[in-house]
Amino acid sequence: MAAYKGYEPVIGVEVHCELKTASKVFCSCSAAFGNAPNTACCPVCMGLPGALPQLNAEAVRLTIQAGLALHCDIRRTAWFDRKNYFYPDLPKGYQITQNDTPFCTGGYVTIYNKEEKRIHLQRIHLEEDAGKLLHRDGVTCMDYNRCGVGLIEIVTEPELSDPAEVKEYLTGLRQILLFAGVSDCRMNEGSMRCEVNLSVRPVGSTTRGVRCEIKNIGSIQFAAKAAEEEFHRQADILAAGGVIEQETRRFNENTGKTETMRKKESAVDYRYFTEPNIPPVHLSEAYIEKIQRQMPKSVAAWREELHNMYGLNAEDAALVMQTPNIVQFYTEAAAKTKYPKLAANLLIGEVIPQIKEGDPVPVQAGHLAEAADLLGDGEVNSTVAKQLVGRALRGESPAAVAKAEGLFRIRDEESLLPLVKDAIAADPRSVGDFLKGKTAAKKRLLGGVIRQSGGRADPAITEALLDRELALLSDED
Ligand code: ADP
Ligand code: MG
Ligand code: ZN
Repeated sequence: MAAYKGYEPVIGVEVHCELKTASKVFCSCSAAFGNAPNTACCPVCMGLPGALPQLNAEAVRLTIQAGLALHCDIRRTAWFDRKNYFYPDLPKGYQITQNDTPFCTGGYVTIYNKEEKRIHLQRIHLEEDAGKLLHRDGVTCMDYNRCGVGLIEIVTEPELSDPAEVKEYLTGLRQILLFAGVSDCRMNEGSMRCEVNLSVRPVGSTTRGVRCEIKNIGSIQFAAKAAEEEFHRQADILAAGGVIEQETRRFNENTGKTETMRKKESAVDYRYFTEPNIPPVHLSEAYIEKIQRQMPKSVAAWREELHNMYGLNAEDAALVMQTPNIVQFYTEAAAKTKYPKLAANLLIGEVIPQIKEGDPVPVQAGHLAEAADLLGDGEVNSTVAKQLVGRALRGESPAAVAKAEGLFRIRDEESLLPLVKDAIAADPRSVGDFLKGKTAAKKRLLGGVIRQSGGRADPAITEALLDRELALLSDED
């Protein structure tokens, strides 16, 4: 629980996610990211007179899928509403959304902030996205490709009580949506966006203060930072005897502070009314059950599998579960090696940093397993194992490379003994120290052998040989 100047924050989060549908939610235009500006538009998503929207069934299915993944209740009969406002990113002059009948209500995300906590959801509703404004060189360009892309809005209860929980919540939510196949959740491309609502109250109080809403948050880290800054700003004002005005603020990434966008007095009246061009939607029990049956494997199920079958702790599991692709790859590799934990370490340290978001894992599962086996069996040291994974990234087999380039650990006495003898001959001072009882001097001799072998001498076997040779010397004394 965060506390500052005797105050604590009360936080609610709103998240918008673009659905992973091929086409938009009320017309057949492409919903893909990155089309040339204004090339994916039609009379429907531009709101030209007489054009009629038609609901995309796949968008409904993904909304329900999100609701099921988040343990929500699914509404059987729902309709759409118009939210009217004027802004250049909205050529229609209104947004089709669900004000009165969100498809999903309730539900929760479990987070871990020292202890387990459920963040409850108020609602998930389906709506359409607006266009994108690009401000540059003193002009503003409008790109309407995003108008009408299917969007879900996920709203929490005001239950988060620490900026750290904002980060945990967003990370957990993003992972669940990603694994449910609902959205690609890319904050940098705007397919996942969040707003933080925050008020403060005296520690221990159960009342709620006046809240501010913070928009324009570009990453999960920034969301936590924005919450922290806003918490301190409000607490400072109250501690100095001031009052909080309800307002919409924006997060400034350059200053790391929040700043005023608009005050409550300028709040718009959206004049909501039922969208007349889309009939109410009725969802049958069978339809919902079918979606439930076909759900991709959940985050919780993956986590359990990683723990039960491969012994990964929560921390490693989280790192391996960055995307469904990566965890799928990991389980393929883990099934092929005697050392799944080592395979996880190599994957996390050497492979994941090389994966471009959304791309397949650039290594063969069999190759990662080979490297883990070589390392686990003591055939190569960990530096070499990492290098071998680097070669596997170029399509080469770790076992073949190790063999061709003689990278195996040296473990036979025949090869090691000369190195040990050389090290003893080369460092009489350490030998002298050792014989005088300074046992630490042995470490220097051992280090000499390992260096001389290019890091390949097996440390345990080398040390045993070193002990034997030194014992012979001390007998001579
Ligand atoms: P609006 O309709 O203006 O968006 P909502 O009632 O839907 O307002 O709430 C939006 C978000 O603000 C929700 O996540 C909710 O939990 C949060 N919220 C509401 N009241 C407070 C408050 N006093 N302090 C912090 N967050 C709040
Ligand atoms: Mg809202
Ligand atoms: Zn269109």
